[in-house]
Amino acid sequence: TKSVVPIESLDSLSVKSFPLCMRQLHEQLRAAHHLKHGGRLQYGLFLKGIGVTLEDSLRFWRDEFTKIMDLDKFEKQYAYNVRYNYGKEGSKRNYSPFSCMRIISNTVGQGDCHGCPFRHCDVSNLKNRLQGYGLDSQSIQSVVEMTKKGHFQIACSKYFDAVHNVDLGLGINHPNQYFEESQKLQG
Ligand code: SF4
Repeated sequence: TKSVVPIESLDSLSVKSFPLCMRQLHEQLRAAHHLKHGGRLQYGLFLKGIGVTLEDSLRFWRDEFTKIMDLDKFEKQYAYNVRYNYGKEGSKRNYSPFSCMRIISNTVGQGDCHGCPFRHCDVSNLKNRLQGYGLDSQSIQSVVEMTKKGHFQIACSKYFDAVHNVDLGLGINHPNQYFEESQKLQG
């Protein structure tokens, strides 16, 4: 059975074990205390998939959102979606976290932070971000090269190798798979 991931560990996990698509959503949420619908859906389902409980998810989103809105508004407009992701509202389906294919083929608008950064960010932004994360220039180069060729998942795999200081060349097809592979290396 999968272990429960406490929300207190999400800041450090986002650095060590999240793929870039989820790290970017986490950082945006922390910075803006808000995410648009597409981001809440993509990130919320990912969190469910790594083992964050519904109760913790509600607390996590509430703690951030109530920095910019009152509790009543959060409960009325946003708590439903969190419960929905866990199959507790609406059609009560047990929604699966999105695969890379699903995320890459998403349409992402202005001001949106969801999607796959290798697909949806412009290259200079991507470069800056990777530099900011302290990746060495050779790794950045190989990520960017794959991005430019349209090999987004290979770029993601190169990012994985750079962050973990390994040379595995994994085939990445799901953000939650990325997370699990990373956790295996944390020992
Ligand atoms: Fe996320 Fe997949 Fe893109 Fe990697 S390739 S950043 S896991 S969507």
